[in-house]
Amino acid sequence: MHKLRTLPWLLCLALLIAGYGCQSNPEGPSIELGVTQCHHCNQAIADLQWAASDESGGATRIYDDPGCLFATRRESPGTSEPLFQDKAGSGLWLAAADTWFATVNGVGSPAGHGWGAYASFADAQEAVTAGGGGRILRYEQASEVIGLPPQPGKTAAR
Ligand SMILES: [Zn+2]
Repeated sequence: MHKLRTLPWLLCLALLIAGYGCQSNPEGPSIELGVTQCHHCNQAIADLQWAASDESGGATRIYDDPGCLFATRRESPGTSEPLFQDKAGSGLWLAAADTWFATVNGVGSPAGHGWGAYASFADAQEAVTAGGGGRILRYEQASEVIGLPPQPGKTAAR
């Protein structure tokens, strides 16, 4: 009797571990800090919280900044949905469809695009509030505006 009651919980736990839970938890590539280079700008990845990844033709592409991923996908869309490291520092990879992006006033990103990935709108809002202002976008919006070439007369925030 007792075993039958715990079965749904064990099943739920197994699904969470496998990444089919309420929130997706995909497995991302392994990154060696200071060694693994950004596919787009060739800079060594120094801060995992800004990392992103996708695949193209069976090869994994890793980025030091979500903006580098968006810039690359504009020219070479890739063959998988992108993954983003949680900027809130959970260490989790986030599936693109679940990801929110925030730029926080005065906070630069490794390649200067300035947008971090968050697991929820609430997390993004918390970062913007803590930083005293910024902008928040859903993935679909972010893919249209982040990582565009610099505008003439405008310098990218670093
Ligand atoms: Zn880069």
